[in-house]
Amino acid sequence: MKFCFCIHVLIYLLLPISNLFAIDNYYNENNIENSKNYDSILWYKTSAEKIAIYREIFELSKPILLNAKKNKIKSGYVCGVVFDIDETILDSSEFNYKILQEGKEYGSSSWKKYANASKYTIAIPGASDITNYVHSIGCIVNIVTNRSTLTLLPTKEILNKYNIYYDQILFVETGIKDKDKNSRFKAIINGKYPSKIKYKQQIIAYYGDNIQDFPDSYQKNYFNKDSSNNIYDKFGTEYFCLPNPMYGSWTNNKINNN
Ligand SMILES: [Mg+2]
Repeated sequence: MKFCFCIHVLIYLLLPISNLFAIDNYYNENNIENSKNYDSILWYKTSAEKIAIYREIFELSKPILLNAKKNKIKSGYVCGVVFDIDETILDSSEFNYKILQEGKEYGSSSWKKYANASKYTIAIPGASDITNYVHSIGCIVNIVTNRSTLTLLPTKEILNKYNIYYDQILFVETGIKDKDKNSRFKAIINGKYPSKIKYKQQIIAYYGDNIQDFPDSYQKNYFNKDSSNNIYDKFGTEYFCLPNPMYGSWTNNKINNN
């Protein structure tokens, strides 16, 4: 009887402490700073390094573009450059931060909601400058995006707001699920994209944050290959890859995937 009473007293005394642990666990589980994507969004939204990298890549690419425009365009072609949109010329990190705050998964319905809200998208540092530079040297500015045509109006609105130059935007057509960009890359080169610019273009540069923003490039083809492999030969001369630690085809990679 005495032992039983002591157990009850002990439980009574420990209850407040266990509640404290419970509160602490609740806080940790619901604190977005503990979410797996928090650091990548923090880096993208706030770091000086992010701005420096974009500036480096855009500035270093300018003389390469100019040289290609002057010396490498074949007869019968006009000069063209291809840009991706998100995390290449527009910064949609606020959207990623919102879904993190709301504890939601990345999905098309939330994307539509936020993509239509222009206030969640801003220009990438240097995006206006590089796109206007490409135009100024006489090359066509093509944007190839996996945003759907449903976002056409707000997308154009935000590009115009930040003075980002473009000649044409190739969206994913409504109802088409194939988001592989290669057919659109080929259409630009052949001048056969429906209702768009009809010139045959020689593309002198591609800019993107995902390996799939570059022709015939898929994450699995690059996996476990080091920088000396010739699969990387065009990077820095025709392909300009920009940073995105928040999402991308790389997230399906596995460490030690032998
Ligand atoms: Mg992108």
